[in-house]
Amino acid sequence: MSLPRVQTRGASAAPESSSALSVHVVTFGCQMNKYDSLLVEGRFRAEGYRLTDDPAQADVLLFNTCSVREHAEERVFSWLGELKHAKRARPDLVVGVLGCMAQRAEDDIFRRAGHVDLVCGTRKIHRLPELVAEVRARRAQGLAPKEQRLLEVGMEEEVAVERGAEEYAGGPCGYLTVMRGCDLNCTFCIVPKVRGRVQSRPIEDLLREARWMVAGGAKVITLLGQTVNSYGEDLAAAEGERGLGRGGRPALADLLYALQPLEGLERIRLITLHPSYVTAALARSIAECDKVDRFLPLPAQSGSDEVLKRMRRGYTTELYRSRLELLRGQVPDLELGSDWIVGFPGESEADFARTLAFLGEIGSVQNYIFQYSPRPETRAFELADDVPDEVKKARNQELLRAAEQSALARHQRCLDTELDVFVEEERPDGRGLRGRSRHNLAVSFPAGVVPLVGRRARVHVEGASPFGLWGSLAP
Ligand code: SF4
Repeated sequence: MSLPRVQTRGASAAPESSSALSVHVVTFGCQMNKYDSLLVEGRFRAEGYRLTDDPAQADVLLFNTCSVREHAEERVFSWLGELKHAKRARPDLVVGVLGCMAQRAEDDIFRRAGHVDLVCGTRKIHRLPELVAEVRARRAQGLAPKEQRLLEVGMEEEVAVERGAEEYAGGPCGYLTVMRGCDLNCTFCIVPKVRGRVQSRPIEDLLREARWMVAGGAKVITLLGQTVNSYGEDLAAAEGERGLGRGGRPALADLLYALQPLEGLERIRLITLHPSYVTAALARSIAECDKVDRFLPLPAQSGSDEVLKRMRRGYTTELYRSRLELLRGQVPDLELGSDWIVGFPGESEADFARTLAFLGEIGSVQNYIFQYSPRPETRAFELADDVPDEVKKARNQELLRAAEQSALARHQRCLDTELDVFVEEERPDGRGLRGRSRHNLAVSFPAGVVPLVGRRARVHVEGASPFGLWGSLAP
């Protein structure tokens, strides 16, 4: 993504009322950040701001950041660096940093980028129009630049999601954050620090938002959570109702049963699950709700119990197997996605061999593989990063090859069959359309005469690779 050239305007050309002000949000990181950016844009629109696609035209420029790796944060600082001169030429511009990096780094951001006006944490994003107005008010009072700054990183609030009169703008495939935060403490992960403890949204709120999305054109809704199957763990059992969660609490299974009858909704997807929270009720609900994709992202991270213990993942490979059995017992054709970390502190050749074997055993069709990199403010940061880089690289390559073989074998089983594909978009290279099957397999095919984006199509599969399938529209 290239850095924008912010045009300079005559100093103090800033329009007075918010109705003439334009906002641009630059989003880094995961789907949850994309959802949050849409939420932030909606709040500004509700306050009369205009959205601009061109950061150079913005009066308010916001960066919704990621903190999962150092590299992600450094990218933001290089954007901010570019803005320094432009901000000097255009002091009316409001520059804000939000999201996980804001939550982790707090006022360090002001120290590294003194021209930033606002640092807003992960639980304050719904207040952004108010915070921008506060910065502008301080400016109008003639306060010194340092006095104008705002740091808002408290974790006490719940992010308020009021959609009000706002139009849904997420397209046929929309995202719905059902909970924030994580109650686990994997030693390599910064999320609990930057996103806090689990906060689940009540089912009736989620149903209301899902209806609003479908009314606005969404056909596929992906339910988002760091450990989406721990949904409801923090909610109380509803009066007179018995949820499928612990002690009668609402659970993800209840949410799936509630969404299944929603007219106009064609597919439900889930991101991301944790093996420890897989239950019989959840497995049954997926089997009984045919809108739920037959694909689950269930990160294993490693195939070695020793490594899983040092990662504090909270399960062993045996538990992972038993939960997978539970799921496949109810949904025999279930496909899996998994994340893997290679080179975690103390990972021996034998540990890595177990990971290779485990990937082959669970047969995950979608795999994200990362080389361990120490992250400040995580517990693993205290562990010696003792696996040499060249060994990490070699293990990464070897696991990648195994993952491609696993995916290719799965894809080849689809040859000469017909798949029900939800068409998501035109291929950027102009060579037809692409979408996903109910098992989340990527499928490309030439366009027909009927516009199909946002609809389902039957595709006859003619070719397979480790990365997807291709074919033609079935007669
Ligand atoms: S489950 Fe572990 S890896 Fe996932 S968000 Fe929580 S702490 Fe991070």
